[in-house]
Amino acid sequence: MHKNRICPICGSQERELIFEQNFAEIPGVTFLKGYDVVKCGTCGFYYADGIPEQHSFDAYYKDQSKYEDIVDTLSDANRIRFGQSLAFILDHVSKQGMNFQKMKIADIGCATGDFLRFLKEKGYCDLTGIDPSPACVNFLRTCGLTAKQAVVNELNGEERFDLIRLNMVLEHVVDLNGFMEHIKQELLPGGYLYVSVPYAEGFSQVDNCPFQEFSVEHINYFSAQSLRNFMNKYSFRLIGYNAVTDRASSQMEALFVLDDSSVALGSIEKDTSADGQMQEYLRKCKNLEQEVNKKLDQLAQSQEPVIVWGVGTHTLRQLVAGNLAKCNIQMFVDANPHYQNTKYQGIPVCSPKEINSGERIIVSSWHAQDAIIYYGREQLGLKNEFITLYDR
Ligand SMILES: [Zn+2]
Repeated sequence: MHKNRICPICGSQERELIFEQNFAEIPGVTFLKGYDVVKCGTCGFYYADGIPEQHSFDAYYKDQSKYEDIVDTLSDANRIRFGQSLAFILDHVSKQGMNFQKMKIADIGCATGDFLRFLKEKGYCDLTGIDPSPACVNFLRTCGLTAKQAVVNELNGEERFDLIRLNMVLEHVVDLNGFMEHIKQELLPGGYLYVSVPYAEGFSQVDNCPFQEFSVEHINYFSAQSLRNFMNKYSFRLIGYNAVTDRASSQMEALFVLDDSSVALGSIEKDTSADGQMQEYLRKCKNLEQEVNKKLDQLAQSQEPVIVWGVGTHTLRQLVAGNLAKCNIQMFVDANPHYQNTKYQGIPVCSPKEINSGERIIVSSWHAQDAIIYYGREQLGLKNEFITLYDR
């Protein structure tokens, strides 16, 4: 356990407590009891302190990946998103006089390899996917892609690439420095690194559950400057950057080039760019959580037997920090098979297919609220009444 995780960017032990996140421990769902969100007193980076070591996370992503949902065809939304991402890369790479079509490309933490499949359709050939999940790797192989099952610290630079993509990966990594040492070994001299991460400057503008950005998986909260500070340490020079913030998500993508010759790299600039947004985000989450607790309080008072659908971050937090814990819960359900066949305080966690009684169902998620109701009513034909916690 990292009781005092030093700042992954500057190594400082100075920190300021920003928020205490707590989770119920449901065996097989999460191994985290929570953590402290802190701000580095030296460089200003926001990160989670009081978290388990990297190997616990490695085992979790290997055995409990929730990114194994295989969808054979790429959705239109993905095609649009990937097209924009590809245009962003092409624009910057071609300015450097490089031919992206001929590059050796690796997507690390690729899940079901949607982006690689998109590139393959576009005629790119030298594509490799690397992921800890055996199910994801098997699927990539059936798609005719080269795939390797590994966590990053198992990579040894055997094969090196012109471009590595790290899409929504760095926010999950405890040992960021060990991780980057390995990533660097996997790149050819002058290679490119594409990174996308949640964008801390935009957290408060996204509609989501309270404190969802501090989830059971996200433990690093980058601003544009802190990402640059971190990459500078490893001689990655920023060549292009793009942040997208709207009500659905807040993300940034950035393209770096490995440039060991640059003397300007390695410097860390104190970062205050996300401070205002972070405070605003905490305020917004506290208000929203109060509203949710008011709704749950009525159910807690009546002690009506209920089913809770969803055992993600929202439920794990509510069970220790909200009024859900006071409700008369008969059963939890979750569609993710990795989360089923376990218990929390004697209450079973089951597949939604096992719902066979008429209790009302609390939809314990913001993001999946509509999808849960649709699935329950249309696919399972449930007649139970659904109780939603959010006006969307
Ligand atoms: Zn720092």
